[in-house]
Amino acid sequence: MSKVPEQTKVWTVLELIRWGTTYFGQKGIESGRLTMELLLCEVLATRRIALYSDFERPLMPQELVQLRGYVQRIANHEPLQYVLGKADFFSLQFEVTPDVLIPRQETEILVERVISQVADRRTCLDIGTGSGIIAVAIAKHVPQSQWLCIDKSSGAVDVARRNADRHGVADQCTFQVMDILTQAPSQTFDIICMNPPYIAASEVSTLDATVRDYEPHSALTDDADGLSFYRRLSHLGESLLNPNGLMVFELGWGQAESAVDLFKGRWNTRVINDLADIPRVLEVWSN
Ligand code: GLN
Repeated sequence: MSKVPEQTKVWTVLELIRWGTTYFGQKGIESGRLTMELLLCEVLATRRIALYSDFERPLMPQELVQLRGYVQRIANHEPLQYVLGKADFFSLQFEVTPDVLIPRQETEILVERVISQVADRRTCLDIGTGSGIIAVAIAKHVPQSQWLCIDKSSGAVDVARRNADRHGVADQCTFQVMDILTQAPSQTFDIICMNPPYIAASEVSTLDATVRDYEPHSALTDDADGLSFYRRLSHLGESLLNPNGLMVFELGWGQAESAVDLFKGRWNTRVINDLADIPRVLEVWSN
């Protein structure tokens, strides 16, 4: 069977899982079975564990129509998180739309680093906030922290604002549409965080189609060497950071040395590796 299921037949959960696994496999979609299960969970408003005890449940015609729409989007290589409109990060669920980068698990390292070093630092800046995951996750764990969240995309700022509301930290977060490459906040900060669009322009064409064709271009790349934002902050940091302040950046693959070089001299730097021993976070503080 290669077509999306017709409505006339009665389809059970188990049949659909089997069908979806094969169909997505043919379409080159990774984790086809898991994807199908998560789509079914969404359509049936149920949890994965419940699917397993309800394998013989037949889908209603309108449920099949909804599922068919989702399946077609996945078959076109649209990311699952955009189809579902949500993604998990740091054990929290966030709204995501095509206006924002899909949260990546690697970014949890940055969040953990900030939480463990926040001490009495209170005023924080999240540059390129996207869905707001960094500020919202930290704000939730550090109730005394106050955040300015900026992004050059107003669509992203709207999503981030809703995520702050959703997690009850709206009173700790202020949002502003701002492009840090050409503008700067007027206040100063104890902590500055950024997960920059660090993919070099020359590498964009090598990205998986699910990423390249769907995630916001400006959230992925600086259209240059991938280092523009580290470079900019190596200058701007001097006027934005309070004494005893800390800047924490996520690093792209293979960027640690070049990024550290940009901060050499006026700044202290420390690189943190992820669990796969890949340099993942750059911490910067003044001499
Ligand atoms: N801050 C958001 C995240 O970490 C968005 C980052 C980006 O768009 N480059 O997911």
